[in-house]
Amino acid sequence: MRTIILCVLLSFAALNGRAASLHALIIDGQNNHDWQRTTPVLKKLLEDTGLFQVEIATTPPKGGDFSAFHPDFSKYQVVISNYNTFPNGDNWPEAVQTAFEQYMNNGGGFVSYHSADNAFPKWQAFQLMIGMGGWMGQAGPYHYFKDGKLVSDPSPGPTGSHGARTPFLITTRDSQHPITKGLPEKWMHATDELYNSLRGPGQNMTVLATGWSDPANKGTGRDEPMLMTLTYGKGRIFHTTLGHDPAAMSCVGFITTFTRGAEWAATGKVTQKIPSDFPGPDEARTRTF
Ligand code: ZN
Repeated sequence: MRTIILCVLLSFAALNGRAASLHALIIDGQNNHDWQRTTPVLKKLLEDTGLFQVEIATTPPKGGDFSAFHPDFSKYQVVISNYNTFPNGDNWPEAVQTAFEQYMNNGGGFVSYHSADNAFPKWQAFQLMIGMGGWMGQAGPYHYFKDGKLVSDPSPGPTGSHGARTPFLITTRDSQHPITKGLPEKWMHATDELYNSLRGPGQNMTVLATGWSDPANKGTGRDEPMLMTLTYGKGRIFHTTLGHDPAAMSCVGFITTFTRGAEWAATGKVTQKIPSDFPGPDEARTRTF
């Protein structure tokens, strides 16, 4: 019996072409978004690649006892944050912050997903990891694209805003990076929030893709960074502003960039192919979960 089970498992791995060897940890527990619904989607998307084994660490609710929250980051190739502190959530305990900084310094992988960049404005190392964030009075320049180049404007101003949710066009700005290599130059993203006016240190950061923030929808009239990569010590970070809710996460563009970004953060490479249903510039493409 045991042999049969082993054979079935082995053939599944063979069919899949690879074993799920990358260990991923999703952190949630506090978020002004519906993390109870989005974390299972993140987990499923990662597992569906056949590459990841996913665990979840859920913090106590606001004001709770964090003494039992001390993930062993070194067990994972990539950590995904679905946690934020907007408007007044709990900071992780200092020992957890220090452990996370060490993990990243030593070559860890991190994915900042959607509102995870609305977090920890005073935690400088975290701000260096994500490059920029919003809604929490983050310090640092406002980063946007103009004439095909990144502009970092140090003059003070608001941080973090978005208009009503709508489909919008994403423009690939770096077609050589492993995450975006092979993607169309322009593709339509399904209904989502388009973040604007994100601020932060923006060091060791590459903007992979932008979205145009429409002034008719409370936007800036600028091309705002949507997908970024950064380094922190020996660590790699993929920052996606996309994916407000499961409807936005059903976009094939979100799915593809999120899972490729997670693989790159974990290993520095991307082995996943661009799916045949990836959207072009005219129409968003979604999948049902
Ligand atoms: Zn949102």
